[in-house]
Amino acid sequence: MTGGRQRARRGRSHLRRRPGHAVLAALLVVAAASGCAAEAGDTGTGQGAKLQAGQPGAPADAPAAGALGTRAAQAERAKLAQAARAVAAKKWGLASTPLAPPAPPAVKPHITTRKGFEVEGQDDSLPPVFTTVPTKDKVVFLTMDDGDDKDPELLKMMSELNIPYSAFLSDYLVRDNYTYFKDAEARGVTLNNHTLNHRYMPGLSYEEQKREICDQQDIIEKQFGKRPRLFRPPYGNYNTDTLKIAKSCGITAVPLWAEEAFPDHMEWREEDLDLHPGDIILTHFRGKKDWKGSMPDLIRSVMKTVTDKGYAVARLEDYV
Ligand SMILES: [Zn+2]
Repeated sequence: MTGGRQRARRGRSHLRRRPGHAVLAALLVVAAASGCAAEAGDTGTGQGAKLQAGQPGAPADAPAAGALGTRAAQAERAKLAQAARAVAAKKWGLASTPLAPPAPPAVKPHITTRKGFEVEGQDDSLPPVFTTVPTKDKVVFLTMDDGDDKDPELLKMMSELNIPYSAFLSDYLVRDNYTYFKDAEARGVTLNNHTLNHRYMPGLSYEEQKREICDQQDIIEKQFGKRPRLFRPPYGNYNTDTLKIAKSCGITAVPLWAEEAFPDHMEWREEDLDLHPGDIILTHFRGKKDWKGSMPDLIRSVMKTVTDKGYAVARLEDYV
């Protein structure tokens, strides 16, 4: 009980000192208050069990202790954000409003290499290769590869819908228009590594793979200011060298995918042909010249599947 209250106090003072972190601080306050309320329920009657202002179940007009105001403001913000998303969903022709994801986990899950995806001489120091993030949250992750089609409508649509996604870029397709991806990055898209030239990694020598992976790390850092942590090998093919090299130039995880989305259908990796909590969905920056639709068509299609099945799209980098 007291621990929770102290945490809440610290959260408030932190909020005053550093307004830039107000949202994070607000989340911490809510988390602390919730934990405290649960304990109160367990202890039953008695003075200690009384609800404090700012805890779930406390009367709305209880003396303002800071946490209540923050929590109410946060709930109000979430409500407004979802209302804005509903408007955007209508504007962009989505079948239904995308669901809001839960708050990101306070601690990222421990991820290990999926069974059957190990390399020769596999050891735990190599970046894990996985298709689904271990989580109970009803979320999936949207990832977009290559970088060929650069449709400004996509950036606008995703910003207005407030749907997070992660890009895996191959420089040979991106270098004619870094500005497009700078715009994406400014809108919150994380730019990750998908090699320089999209070659089949196991067919290359160690030195060639190193150039494909590590030079792309350098280019992304130089062009966009951040060195990627995530790497996806072209076609999902890799060997021991690939993972060793990726690790040597700053990669910590190798997310593959559980589903691949197209404008007119979904391809499933698992036999049940269904989504699962933490599934990573692959799709591509492609346009009408490549497949039957535009990027907005693709998003409408994949979001229909995701929302109909009761999932929200969360940010991959919040979990990995
Ligand atoms: Zn690719």
